[in-house]
Amino acid sequence: MQLLDGKALSNTIKDELAEEVGRIRQSDLKIPHLAAVLIGDNPASESYVRSKVRSCEKIGFQSTLIRRKADITEDELLEIIDDLNKDRDIDGFIVQLPLPKHIDEDKVTLAIDPKKDVDGFHPVNFGKMAQGLPAYLPATPFGIVTMLDRYGIETSGKECVVVGRSNIVGTPMSILLSRKAKVGNCTVTLTHSRTRDLAAHTLNADIIIAAIGIPNFITGDMVKEGAVVIDVGINRVEDASKKRGYRLVGDVDFDAASEKASYITPVPGGVGPMTVVSLLMNTLKACRERDYQ
Ligand code: NAD
Repeated sequence: MQLLDGKALSNTIKDELAEEVGRIRQSDLKIPHLAAVLIGDNPASESYVRSKVRSCEKIGFQSTLIRRKADITEDELLEIIDDLNKDRDIDGFIVQLPLPKHIDEDKVTLAIDPKKDVDGFHPVNFGKMAQGLPAYLPATPFGIVTMLDRYGIETSGKECVVVGRSNIVGTPMSILLSRKAKVGNCTVTLTHSRTRDLAAHTLNADIIIAAIGIPNFITGDMVKEGAVVIDVGINRVEDASKKRGYRLVGDVDFDAASEKASYITPVPGGVGPMTVVSLLMNTLKACRERDYQ
Protein backbone atom coordinates (compact mmCIF):
# COMPACT_ATOMS: atom_id res chain seq x y z
CA MET A 1 0.00 0.00 0.00
CA GLN A 2 1.25 3.47 -0.85
CA LEU A 3 0.13 6.51 1.07
CA LEU A 4 -1.16 9.42 -1.02
CA ASP A 5 0.57 12.13 0.96
CA GLY A 6 -1.49 15.27 0.33
CA LYS A 7 0.56 17.28 2.78
CA ALA A 8 3.87 16.61 1.03
CA LEU A 9 2.38 17.02 -2.45
CA SER A 10 0.65 20.27 -1.52
CA ASN A 11 3.96 21.60 -0.16
CA THR A 12 5.66 20.74 -3.47
CA ILE A 13 2.94 22.58 -5.38
CA LYS A 14 3.16 25.54 -2.97
CA ASP A 15 6.91 25.74 -3.67
CA GLU A 16 6.13 25.83 -7.39
CA LEU A 17 3.56 28.58 -6.81
CA ALA A 18 6.06 30.56 -4.70
CA GLU A 19 8.54 30.36 -7.60
CA GLU A 20 5.83 31.63 -9.91
CA VAL A 21 5.19 34.56 -7.54
CA GLY A 22 8.93 35.31 -7.73
CA ARG A 23 8.70 35.47 -11.54
CA ILE A 24 5.59 37.66 -11.31
CA ARG A 25 7.44 40.07 -9.02
CA GLN A 26 10.44 40.21 -11.34
CA SER A 27 8.19 41.03 -14.27
CA ASP A 28 6.44 43.69 -12.22
CA LEU A 29 3.06 42.07 -12.78
CA LYS A 30 0.17 41.95 -10.32
CA ILE A 31 0.54 39.67 -7.31
CA PRO A 32 -2.47 37.31 -6.97
CA HIS A 33 -4.85 38.43 -4.23
CA LEU A 34 -7.36 36.10 -2.54
CA ALA A 35 -10.06 37.30 -0.15
CA ALA A 36 -11.96 35.05 2.26
CA VAL A 37 -15.24 35.91 3.96
CA LEU A 38 -15.81 34.18 7.28
CA ILE A 39 -19.17 34.51 9.02
CA GLY A 40 -19.67 33.49 12.64
CA ASP A 41 -17.35 31.43 14.81
CA ASN A 42 -17.69 27.83 13.63
CA PRO A 43 -14.37 26.30 14.80
CA ALA A 44 -13.94 24.06 11.74
CA SER A 45 -14.55 27.01 9.37
CA GLU A 46 -12.11 29.15 11.40
CA SER A 47 -9.45 26.51 11.01
CA TYR A 48 -10.03 26.07 7.24
CA VAL A 49 -9.94 29.81 6.59
CA ARG A 50 -6.84 30.25 8.74
CA SER A 51 -5.09 27.56 6.74
CA LYS A 52 -6.09 29.22 3.44
CA VAL A 53 -4.84 32.65 4.55
CA ARG A 54 -1.62 31.20 5.98
CA SER A 55 -0.95 29.35 2.73
CA CYS A 56 -1.36 32.59 0.76
CA GLU A 57 1.18 34.29 3.01
CA LYS A 58 3.59 31.36 2.68
CA ILE A 59 3.74 31.52 -1.11
CA GLY A 60 3.67 35.31 -1.39
CA PHE A 61 0.06 35.88 -2.51
CA GLN A 62 -1.82 38.78 -0.99
CA SER A 63 -4.76 37.81 1.18
CA THR A 64 -7.61 39.61 2.88
CA LEU A 65 -9.81 38.12 5.58
CA ILE A 66 -13.23 39.66 6.09
CA ARG A 67 -14.87 38.52 9.34
CA ARG A 68 -18.42 39.25 10.40
CA LYS A 69 -20.58 38.06 13.29
CA ALA A 70 -23.19 35.31 12.78
CA ASP A 71 -26.02 37.84 13.08
CA ILE A 72 -25.05 39.61 9.83
CA THR A 73 -28.09 40.01 7.56
CA GLU A 74 -28.26 38.40 4.14
CA ASP A 75 -28.36 41.84 2.52
CA GLU A 76 -25.24 42.94 4.38
CA LEU A 77 -23.39 39.84 3.19
CA LEU A 78 -24.59 40.38 -0.39
CA GLU A 79 -23.25 43.92 -0.16
CA ILE A 80 -19.81 42.62 0.87
CA ILE A 81 -19.89 40.24 -2.10
CA ASP A 82 -20.85 43.07 -4.43
CA ASP A 83 -17.90 45.13 -3.14
CA LEU A 84 -15.52 42.19 -3.67
CA ASN A 85 -16.88 41.65 -7.20
CA LYS A 86 -16.06 45.29 -7.99
CA ASP A 87 -12.73 45.50 -6.14
CA ARG A 88 -10.08 45.63 -8.85
CA ASP A 89 -7.35 44.47 -6.52
CA ILE A 90 -9.08 41.20 -5.53
CA ASP A 91 -8.56 38.42 -8.10
CA GLY A 92 -10.71 35.81 -6.42
CA PHE A 93 -12.65 35.26 -3.23
CA ILE A 94 -14.46 32.63 -1.26
CA VAL A 95 -17.32 32.73 1.21
CA GLN A 96 -16.62 29.95 3.70
CA LEU A 97 -19.54 27.54 4.09
CA PRO A 98 -21.65 26.67 6.01
CA LEU A 99 -23.42 30.00 6.54
CA PRO A 100 -25.82 30.76 9.40
CA LYS A 101 -29.30 29.31 8.77
CA HIS A 102 -30.97 32.67 8.07
CA ILE A 103 -28.73 33.20 5.01
CA ASP A 104 -29.57 31.48 1.72
CA GLU A 105 -26.34 29.82 0.54
CA ASP A 106 -27.60 29.48 -3.03
CA LYS A 107 -28.29 33.21 -3.21
CA VAL A 108 -24.77 33.92 -1.94
CA THR A 109 -23.15 31.53 -4.42
CA LEU A 110 -25.10 33.10 -7.29
CA ALA A 111 -24.02 36.60 -6.24
CA ILE A 112 -20.32 35.84 -6.72
CA ASP A 113 -18.88 36.97 -10.06
CA PRO A 114 -18.03 33.68 -11.85
CA LYS A 115 -14.69 35.26 -12.88
CA LYS A 116 -13.74 35.56 -9.19
CA ASP A 117 -15.36 32.31 -8.08
CA VAL A 118 -12.15 30.49 -7.13
CA ASP A 119 -14.10 27.89 -5.10
CA GLY A 120 -15.79 26.92 -8.37
CA PHE A 121 -19.27 26.73 -6.81
CA HIS A 122 -21.12 29.12 -9.18
CA PRO A 123 -23.43 27.33 -11.66
CA VAL A 124 -21.62 29.03 -14.55
CA ASN A 125 -18.37 27.34 -13.53
CA PHE A 126 -20.18 24.11 -12.71
CA GLY A 127 -21.83 24.09 -16.15
CA LYS A 128 -18.58 24.85 -17.94
CA MET A 129 -16.86 22.07 -15.98
CA ALA A 130 -19.62 19.62 -16.96
CA GLN A 131 -19.14 20.52 -20.63
CA GLY A 132 -15.36 20.23 -20.42
CA LEU A 133 -14.86 23.96 -21.01
CA PRO A 134 -12.18 25.97 -19.14
CA ALA A 135 -13.58 26.79 -15.69
CA TYR A 136 -12.67 27.14 -12.05
CA LEU A 137 -12.95 23.58 -10.83
CA PRO A 138 -14.35 23.12 -7.32
CA ALA A 139 -11.34 23.05 -5.01
CA THR A 140 -11.73 19.57 -3.44
CA PRO A 141 -12.41 17.60 -6.66
CA PHE A 142 -9.65 19.64 -8.37
CA GLY A 143 -7.29 18.66 -5.56
CA ILE A 144 -8.17 14.97 -5.98
CA VAL A 145 -7.68 15.11 -9.75
CA THR A 146 -4.30 16.80 -9.22
CA MET A 147 -3.31 14.14 -6.70
CA LEU A 148 -4.23 11.26 -9.04
CA ASP A 149 -2.32 13.01 -11.83
CA ARG A 150 0.84 13.74 -9.85
CA TYR A 151 0.97 10.20 -8.43
CA GLY A 152 0.61 8.83 -11.97
CA ILE A 153 -2.48 6.78 -11.12
CA GLU A 154 -4.14 5.43 -14.27
CA THR A 155 -7.86 6.21 -14.34
CA SER A 156 -8.80 5.40 -17.94
CA GLY A 157 -11.28 2.54 -18.19
CA LYS A 158 -11.38 2.09 -14.40
CA GLU A 159 -14.54 1.51 -12.39
CA CYS A 160 -14.95 4.41 -9.98
CA VAL A 161 -17.51 4.65 -7.18
CA VAL A 162 -18.15 8.06 -5.64
CA VAL A 163 -20.00 7.90 -2.32
CA GLY A 164 -21.92 11.13 -1.60
CA ARG A 165 -23.57 13.49 -4.09
CA SER A 166 -22.99 16.97 -2.65
CA ASN A 167 -22.67 19.89 -5.06
CA ILE A 168 -19.18 20.69 -3.83
CA VAL A 169 -17.59 17.23 -3.73
CA GLY A 170 -19.44 14.08 -4.84
CA THR A 171 -21.34 15.31 -7.89
CA PRO A 172 -18.49 17.36 -9.46
CA MET A 173 -16.07 14.51 -8.70
CA SER A 174 -18.28 12.09 -10.64
CA ILE A 175 -18.38 14.50 -13.60
CA LEU A 176 -14.62 15.08 -13.64
CA LEU A 177 -13.73 11.40 -13.50
CA SER A 178 -16.09 10.51 -16.33
CA ARG A 179 -14.80 13.29 -18.62
CA LYS A 180 -12.64 12.54 -21.63
CA ALA A 181 -9.44 13.86 -20.08
CA LYS A 182 -6.01 12.76 -18.87
CA VAL A 183 -7.43 12.13 -15.40
CA GLY A 184 -10.86 10.82 -16.39
CA ASN A 185 -12.34 8.22 -18.72
CA CYS A 186 -13.60 6.27 -15.71
CA THR A 187 -16.89 4.41 -15.63
CA VAL A 188 -18.42 6.25 -12.70
CA THR A 189 -21.15 5.19 -10.30
CA LEU A 190 -22.45 7.99 -8.08
CA THR A 191 -23.89 6.53 -4.88
CA HIS A 192 -25.78 8.26 -2.05
CA SER A 193 -28.03 7.76 0.97
CA ARG A 194 -30.73 6.02 -1.13
CA THR A 195 -28.32 3.59 -2.78
CA ARG A 196 -29.27 -0.05 -2.22
CA ASP A 197 -26.41 -2.37 -1.27
CA LEU A 198 -23.60 0.17 -1.30
CA ALA A 199 -20.98 -2.53 -0.62
CA ALA A 200 -21.90 -4.34 -3.85
CA HIS A 201 -20.88 -1.17 -5.69
CA THR A 202 -17.73 -0.34 -3.73
CA LEU A 203 -16.49 -3.96 -3.97
CA ASN A 204 -16.53 -3.56 -7.74
CA ALA A 205 -14.58 -0.28 -7.64
CA ASP A 206 -10.99 0.25 -8.77
CA ILE A 207 -11.25 3.76 -7.31
CA ILE A 208 -13.41 4.74 -4.32
CA ILE A 209 -14.02 8.38 -3.46
CA ALA A 210 -15.70 8.70 -0.05
CA ALA A 211 -17.43 12.04 0.68
CA ILE A 212 -20.15 11.28 3.17
CA GLY A 213 -19.36 12.92 6.51
CA ILE A 214 -19.76 9.80 8.67
CA PRO A 215 -16.67 8.62 10.57
CA ASN A 216 -15.20 5.30 9.37
CA PHE A 217 -18.28 4.61 7.22
CA ILE A 218 -16.36 2.68 4.52
CA THR A 219 -15.14 -0.46 6.23
CA GLY A 220 -12.37 -2.80 5.10
CA ASP A 221 -14.82 -5.41 3.82
CA MET A 222 -16.26 -2.83 1.38
CA VAL A 223 -12.91 -2.38 -0.39
CA LYS A 224 -11.65 -4.51 -3.28
CA GLU A 225 -8.07 -5.80 -3.16
CA GLY A 226 -5.80 -3.24 -4.91
CA ALA A 227 -8.34 -0.39 -4.99
CA VAL A 228 -7.34 3.28 -4.83
CA VAL A 229 -9.13 4.83 -1.84
CA ILE A 230 -9.62 8.60 -1.58
CA ASP A 231 -11.08 9.72 1.74
CA VAL A 232 -12.60 13.21 1.62
CA GLY A 233 -14.29 13.08 5.03
CA ILE A 234 -13.16 15.30 7.88
CA ASN A 235 -14.99 14.30 11.06
CA ARG A 236 -14.28 15.30 14.63
CA VAL A 237 -14.60 12.43 17.10
CA GLU A 238 -14.23 12.84 20.85
CA ASP A 239 -10.84 11.83 22.19
CA ALA A 240 -10.08 12.56 25.83
CA SER A 241 -6.40 11.72 25.26
CA LYS A 242 -6.02 14.79 23.02
CA LYS A 243 -5.48 18.24 24.48
CA ARG A 244 -8.25 19.72 22.33
CA GLY A 245 -10.62 16.84 23.26
CA TYR A 246 -11.12 15.44 19.76
CA ARG A 247 -9.28 13.96 16.81
CA LEU A 248 -9.98 14.07 13.09
CA VAL A 249 -10.99 10.92 11.24
CA GLY A 250 -12.13 10.33 7.68
CA ASP A 251 -15.11 8.53 6.18
CA VAL A 252 -12.96 5.42 5.66
CA ASP A 253 -11.75 2.98 8.30
CA PHE A 254 -8.13 3.69 7.43
CA ASP A 255 -6.44 0.75 9.18
CA ALA A 256 -8.73 -1.89 7.70
CA ALA A 257 -8.93 -0.30 4.22
CA SER A 258 -5.16 0.16 3.96
CA GLU A 259 -4.71 -3.62 4.19
CA LYS A 260 -6.58 -3.93 0.88
CA ALA A 261 -5.82 -0.67 -0.93
CA SER A 262 -3.00 -0.08 -3.43
CA TYR A 263 -3.11 3.66 -2.64
CA ILE A 264 -4.95 5.45 0.15
CA THR A 265 -5.20 9.00 1.50
CA PRO A 266 -4.77 9.62 5.24
CA VAL A 267 -6.98 11.97 7.30
CA PRO A 268 -5.66 14.47 8.15
CA GLY A 269 -2.93 15.10 5.57
CA GLY A 270 -4.66 13.74 2.46
CA VAL A 271 -7.38 15.56 0.55
CA GLY A 272 -7.57 18.55 2.94
CA PRO A 273 -4.22 20.16 2.01
CA MET A 274 -4.92 19.44 -1.68
CA THR A 275 -8.15 21.44 -1.40
CA VAL A 276 -6.25 24.46 -0.08
CA VAL A 277 -3.60 24.29 -2.78
CA SER A 278 -6.29 24.02 -5.48
CA LEU A 279 -7.78 27.24 -4.24
CA LEU A 280 -4.36 28.87 -4.64
CA MET A 281 -4.04 27.48 -8.17
CA ASN A 282 -7.48 28.86 -9.03
CA THR A 283 -6.47 32.27 -7.62
CA LEU A 284 -3.35 32.32 -9.80
CA LYS A 285 -5.52 31.46 -12.81
CA ALA A 286 -7.95 34.27 -11.90
CA CYS A 287 -5.07 36.76 -11.65
CA ARG A 288 -3.62 35.67 -15.02
CA GLU A 289 -6.98 35.84 -16.75
CA ARG A 290 -8.24 39.17 -15.39
CA ASP A 291 -9.47 41.30 -18.22
CA TYR A 292 -8.00 44.52 -16.79
CA GLN A 293 -4.49 45.23 -15.45
P1 NAD B 1 -22.79 16.57 2.49
O1 NAD B 1 -23.24 16.40 3.88
O2 NAD B 1 -23.22 17.75 1.70
O3 NAD B 1 -23.18 15.27 1.65
C1 NAD B 1 -23.04 13.99 2.18
C2 NAD B 1 -23.45 13.00 1.12
O4 NAD B 1 -23.32 11.71 1.70
C3 NAD B 1 -24.89 13.15 0.66
O5 NAD B 1 -24.91 13.29 -0.75
C4 NAD B 1 -25.57 11.85 1.07
O6 NAD B 1 -26.44 11.33 0.06
C5 NAD B 1 -24.40 10.91 1.27
N1 NAD B 1 -24.72 9.91 2.28
C6 NAD B 1 -25.17 10.14 3.54
N2 NAD B 1 -25.42 8.96 4.14
C7 NAD B 1 -25.12 8.00 3.26
C8 NAD B 1 -25.18 6.60 3.29
N3 NAD B 1 -25.62 5.95 4.36
N4 NAD B 1 -24.77 5.92 2.19
C9 NAD B 1 -24.34 6.55 1.09
N5 NAD B 1 -24.25 7.90 1.00
C10 NAD B 1 -24.65 8.60 2.07
O7 NAD B 1 -21.21 16.41 2.52
P2 NAD B 1 -19.96 17.10 1.79
O8 NAD B 1 -20.04 18.56 1.91
O9 NAD B 1 -19.74 16.48 0.44
O10 NAD B 1 -18.82 16.57 2.77
C11 NAD B 1 -18.58 15.20 2.99
C12 NAD B 1 -17.43 15.05 3.95
O11 NAD B 1 -16.28 15.60 3.35
C13 NAD B 1 -17.59 15.78 5.28
O12 NAD B 1 -16.93 15.04 6.30
C14 NAD B 1 -16.86 17.09 5.07
O13 NAD B 1 -16.35 17.65 6.27
C15 NAD B 1 -15.73 16.62 4.18
N6 NAD B 1 -15.15 17.63 3.31
C16 NAD B 1 -13.80 17.65 3.24
C17 NAD B 1 -13.16 18.53 2.39
C18 NAD B 1 -11.68 18.49 2.29
O14 NAD B 1 -11.08 19.43 1.85
N7 NAD B 1 -11.04 17.37 2.69
C19 NAD B 1 -13.91 19.43 1.63
C20 NAD B 1 -15.30 19.38 1.69
C21 NAD B 1 -15.91 18.46 2.55
